[in-house]
Order: sequence, then C-alpha cells, then structure tokens
Amino acid sequence: MPRTALITGASSGLGAEYARQLAARGVELVLVARDRAALEAVSQEVGRYGVDAEVLAADLLDPRQLEKVVGRLEDPDRPIDMLVNNAGFGLPLSFSRNSIDDEARHLALLVEVPMRLTHTALAPMLQRGSGRIVNIASVAGFIPRSTYGACKGWLISFSRWANGRYRGRGVTVTAVCPGFTHTSFHERMGLAPGQEGLPDWLWLDARDVVAESLRDVARGRSVSVPSLRYKLIVGLTKVLPAGLLASVGERGR
Ligand code: NAP
Repeated sequence: MPRTALITGASSGLGAEYARQLAARGVELVLVARDRAALEAVSQEVGRYGVDAEVLAADLLDPRQLEKVVGRLEDPDRPIDMLVNNAGFGLPLSFSRNSIDDEARHLALLVEVPMRLTHTALAPMLQRGSGRIVNIASVAGFIPRSTYGACKGWLISFSRWANGRYRGRGVTVTAVCPGFTHTSFHERMGLAPGQEGLPDWLWLDARDVVAESLRDVARGRSVSVPSLRYKLIVGLTKVLPAGLLASVGERGR
C-alpha cells in the first residue's frame, strides 16, 4: 500500500471516492481540483481516518497552476507513491458542432495533463524503485466514441506500454476503465438523470468501481475493467463487427 497519493479531480465523483477508500487504508493524500471548498470538504471528511489530506486547488488547464502540481510531485521531502490521474469532463458526441477550443481543452485534460503528471511522477518513483500510477480511462476507450473514446483509448494504450516498461523497476501503471458510473460527470454535461437513455443495469456505483480497481492496481495489472458486466462488454468489443461497435458508441449524450 502506498503511503501518499496525489489524486486529480478529487473534489467529486470517482476522485473523491478514491480519496475516501485510500484514506481508509491509512494513505496520506494530496487532493487536486479547481473547487477549493469541495476539496476542503473531502479533506475534512477523510480526516476521520486520521490521515492528512492536503488541499491543492488548481485548474490543470492553466499552465501556471499545473506547475504547482508538478512542483508538489517533484518535492523530494514529501514523496508521492501513488498518482491517480482522474480529472476529466465530457463533451457532446457531435464533434463537428463542438467548439474546437472546447475539444482542445478536453484533449489536454484527458491526455496531455496525465502524460505530463506521469512523466513528472515517474522519475522519483523509478529512483525509489516503487510507485503506482493510476490512469482513469473508460470502457469508451475500447469503442469508437468521438474524441472521448479516442482520448481514453490513448490512456489505455499508454498504460499498457508503460506498465510493461516500468513494472520490472517497481513502478506499475494501470488504466482503470469504468463503464457508466453515477457521479457528477453526466450532470456537468447538462444531462438530467436518465437522459443518457441507458438501462439501469449499465450504471455502476463509484464505491464498487474504486474498490475493484484498487485491487487490480495492487496486483499491478495494466488494465482494470470493474464489474463482470463491463468485462463481458469489453470482451464483446473484440469480436463485434466494426459497424455494430460504431453504432453502440453513438448511444447516449
Ligand atoms: P465528476 O464527478 O464530474 O468529476 C470530475 C473531476 O474532475 C472533478 O473533481 C472536477 O473538479 C475535476 N476537474 C474537471 N476539470 C478540471 C480542471 N480543469 N482542473 C482540475 N480538475 C478538474 O466525474 P467522474 O465521473 O468522477 O470523472 C472522473 C473520471 O472518470 C474522468 O476522467 C472521467 O472521464 C472518468 N469516467 C467517468 C465515467 C462515468 O460514467 N462517470 C465513466 C468512465 C470514466 P473541479 O470542478 O473542482 O475542478
């Protein structure tokens, strides 16, 4: 078990749940997101486990604020053993109608920021010969699903490669691939509950996603797909004809 974890997007949803479950295991935390008040609430909540949860409010899309997070990861006096790259948001699937600036911000938060933070965290982890990097991808990374699926596919491919490359030196890299999970994610896209038009059985609970993924992280897996139903769906993506898969990827939003 790591001693200290830095979690991006820790102010709500999956990130806040990683904070709760890691704190319950005695891991000290650095909580990163834009909403300082929400981070402070999470920090106070996990305080009941007796761990220190530092609040580092930063907009990861602002280069100067991102630099603060990079600086925290590099601090030799306060080493970070686990990095959870979780911050993210979604856009409507209609790429041609989305603003290109929104698409560029989406690509930066989902791909460039995790790549930069992984690069920063790796050097001291490799020096110490231990560390865990957890990249929150998505089942959408296995399916053609506009730029969201493409960004998450990048994280899966990168994590598979990086885990093979660095595992032997004590640093594991895991892409966590949740299916639809109850968090603020869909609401923040302006979708009312149920508006994704999906059956109830497709929805997961953040607590289960985080608990199962942390077991896979502890085993050093390169890819974690929480829940049997989504493991089966990912299995199907490997055998379904491309046209059918593309129409599945058009569901929702
Ligand atoms: P969420 O509740 O909306 O959480 C998103 C988090 O990202 C928030 O803490 C938000 O905090 C942070 N964030 C957004 N923009 C940021 C920025 N510019 N700088 C710093 N932090 C930023 O959604 P979630 O479902 O937990 O999403 C977490 C991850 O899971 C995402 O990568 C998402 O793609 C992935 N995922 C979600 C689902 C799902 O169905 N929910 C499924 C598969 C994968 P602030 O607003 O305070 O900055």
